Amino acid sequence: MITRRQCRSLQERAARMFDAAGIYLSPEERGRIEVADFGLGQPEAEGAQIFTFVQTDRYAAKVIALLPGQTLPEHWHPPVGSDPGKQETVRAAWGRCYVCADGPDTLSQARVVPAKGPVYTARCEQVFDAGTTRTFEPGEKHWFQAGPEGAVLYSFSSVVRDALDGFTDPAIERTTRIVEDRA
Ligand code: ZN
Repeated sequence: MITRRQCRSLQERAARMFDAAGIYLSPEERGRIEVADFGLGQPEAEGAQIFTFVQTDRYAAKVIALLPGQTLPEHWHPPVGSDPGKQETVRAAWGRCYVCADGPDTLSQARVVPAKGPVYTARCEQVFDAGTTRTFEPGEKHWFQAGPEGAVLYSFSSVVRDALDGFTDPAIERTTRIVEDRA
């Protein structure tokens, strides 16, 4: 859960990062940046700011802004019915990001969120700078952590069903609840 004020402040910070990356969003679009806290209520530690350019029942294109040190929690995209699951290509647009996935433990720059060791199991780290691109297959676990300046990533994928994604942390709820500030 986050407050409306927190949501606006994180949207503004993300919008400035999209500006820095040279990604144009209209004033109306800036107000539609999704602030995800994954139900954990500590969005600057674990969260993401996401703008969806397009999302149909077949494909999607998004941009993700991560604040300095912010972690997008470990998840995977499971099969749904006859669909084998979301295939996702991530490309760094700005800043530095540590991308961790299934594979041998090479964790060195990324820092597992304090006290969350058991729910960050994918520890094969790759450092993304602008232009680094990688595709995740369905079922492949991955999590992202921005470096000290933050990071902006493109995400291109087949059909998105965020609510059905798997998260290693059982405390996660994918839908962010926003509470109104008291007057
Ligand atoms: Zn993903």
